[in-house]
Amino acid sequence: MENKRVRLRFAPSPTGGLHMGGVRTALFSYLFAKKHNGDFVLRIEDTDQTRYVKGAEEYIIESLKWCGIEPNEGVGFGDGPHAPYRQSERKELGIYKKYADQLIASGNAYYAFDTPEELDAMRKRLEAAKVVAPQYNAVTRQNMRNSLTLSEDEVKKLMDGGTPFVVRLKVPRNEEIRFHDIIRGWVVVNSTQVDDKVLLKSDGMPTYHLAHIVDDIEMEISHAVRGEEWLPSAPAHILIYRFLGCEDKMPLLAHLPLILKPDGNGKLSKRDKSGIPMFPLNWHDERTGESYVGYRESGFFADAFVNMLAMLGWNPGTTQEIFSIEELIQAFSFERVNKSGAKFDPEKTKWFNQQYLRKKSDKELAELFMPILEEKLKGTQDTRHKDQTYVEGVCKLVKEKSHFVNEFWDAGIYFFIAPTAYDADVIKKRWNENSANFIKSVIERFKGLNTFTAADTEAAFKAAAEAQGIATGQVMQLFRVCLSGVGGGPMLFEMVELLGKDEVVKRLETAVATIIN
Ligand code: GLU
Repeated sequence: MENKRVRLRFAPSPTGGLHMGGVRTALFSYLFAKKHNGDFVLRIEDTDQTRYVKGAEEYIIESLKWCGIEPNEGVGFGDGPHAPYRQSERKELGIYKKYADQLIASGNAYYAFDTPEELDAMRKRLEAAKVVAPQYNAVTRQNMRNSLTLSEDEVKKLMDGGTPFVVRLKVPRNEEIRFHDIIRGWVVVNSTQVDDKVLLKSDGMPTYHLAHIVDDIEMEISHAVRGEEWLPSAPAHILIYRFLGCEDKMPLLAHLPLILKPDGNGKLSKRDKSGIPMFPLNWHDERTGESYVGYRESGFFADAFVNMLAMLGWNPGTTQEIFSIEELIQAFSFERVNKSGAKFDPEKTKWFNQQYLRKKSDKELAELFMPILEEKLKGTQDTRHKDQTYVEGVCKLVKEKSHFVNEFWDAGIYFFIAPTAYDADVIKKRWNENSANFIKSVIERFKGLNTFTAADTEAAFKAAAEAQGIATGQVMQLFRVCLSGVGGGPMLFEMVELLGKDEVVKRLETAVATIIN
């Protein structure tokens, strides 16, 4: 085990859009693999044809690409030594049947011929007898139609006659099963709690339980990281490895904690209403007709999303919260993954995006903002939105209070469209018989300025106020409303400088004329 190459896999089933919990599983596997110079493999577990959803596989691949969590082997990322990486194709290799046959030959699995009606009747019988968790197990299998209760002849006859059958794991009665989980430590379960899981279905397809074990063995996987929902099945998996004589090939297990609702009450649902997406990209489920908004389309940066996800259940042991993917690779370990559920925090999620937004240069932000401006200002007279330097200036001013680039438009619309209405509350409170005169005196002083910097205009404004014996605090907001129409915004004189002399003078003149009327 010690010398085994580090190989982790992300093994989603294409049964719907990959939600953020799934991305986190991929991320933790990726981080660990990279940290140990290992491999990260994408395997598509599509053996349950009834749950197959069109487009899900492409969605998974695109999501991983967007997040920068790229497998170096697997579906969509180039074949490695263990191709194919889709279980439906791997079935053609005959490997699942081979392992199932081995389990049957060693007496650790058996054929079961029970019809759905018979299984249903068994469940009802057990329920009537007040059995808490009715299951097909060491006790109940004795009353069912399987190769343990039927004679060899009968079994042969059924099979020759084409009667559908499944292969079930023969779980021993009342035995302690112990296994080690890297996150949870030792876990001990009594086999009475484990059912005789179906390994091969009647259509010959393996179930997840068999298929993932065969593939983890064949693909030489060293660590299997998955969601906590798989913990109850782990004892059955341990038995399968044992019965196959492959305990030495068993990957180390890590079951990740759940992601909980913001109030900590239960598992986070993909229909969560906090206003923060649950999916990395927009997802439309053709089967159910449901649509979900993605982080990408909501304006999140991929690196902010990934950083936020890493902190859901893991901590670096320091107060550092902002990590690039390289830093995450360096810092990550399973020892620092919590056992208990991680509460999803919508506000913190936005905060992460804000931190990444602040780290971006005005040039980068302008490049992201310009296409939005182009769209919004299509067909207008405005030309400033095409001026990169001007847009950079706007980004510099509006970014402070924003979480997303797509908030810049609402925050800074007046940098492109002069106001035609003025905040009524501010006007009511601040406009008086002196106001027009005061603004006019500001206009005159501004006109006389040779340079129009924030410092120049602020000095001129203060001088105008002083000359009329007005405290600047009394007129500042009014002045802002005359320029932008709204009572709040970025640093006032920075805004003045950016708008420029001609525009500022024009706007002040319009404001005086409009408000007086
Ligand atoms: N196909 C399983 C799922 O989508 C994978 C679980 C595992 O990683 O073993 O949940």
